[in-house]
Amino acid sequence: MNRMLYLLAVLAGVVAGCQPQNKSASTISTMKSNEQSPAAAAANAPKVVKSDEEWRKTLTPEQYRVLRQAGTERAFGAAYEEFKKQGAGTYVCGGCGAELFSSKEKFDSHCGWPSFYDPANAKNVLTRVDSSLGTVRTEVLCAQCGGHLGHVFKGEGFPTPTDQRYCINGVSLKFVPASGSNAVKP
Ligand SMILES: [Zn+2]
Repeated sequence: MNRMLYLLAVLAGVVAGCQPQNKSASTISTMKSNEQSPAAAAANAPKVVKSDEEWRKTLTPEQYRVLRQAGTERAFGAAYEEFKKQGAGTYVCGGCGAELFSSKEKFDSHCGWPSFYDPANAKNVLTRVDSSLGTVRTEVLCAQCGGHLGHVFKGEGFPTPTDQRYCINGVSLKFVPASGSNAVKP
């Protein structure tokens, strides 16, 4: 079972990022390779802390792989297809429910993953350097639970106000429709 998860992680890692990155699969690891000073780590300490066992119970296997193991979902997957159909609303963390992005900042980058040009609620979005895959990228995380969301890329020339692309895994987000739109009644 663990071997299966590892293989899935390797396969997913190959498609990480939206630019071609034909790195050897042997360099891919599901572990975070970031190093932080103890002080920085304390300042960024997640407020929602659960044991590995608890996360496994509350998340789907795919959410667990992405949020807790810094995995990457398949490009143009089911979550992305859903994302494209969603109207006005808020995107909250699939792990802890913290508000992360708004539909106002979403845009179609044609890269196969939900894209935003700016976080709706910056205090819930953390970034840090990610030097896995043999390249230096900026990882995007939920500040409340430390869950991995995706990466942010800058200066790609998209016609957005920030020229940033938050490339986010759809499974790490939960969509909350704006009240008055097609909200699901309980
Ligand atoms: Zn979270």
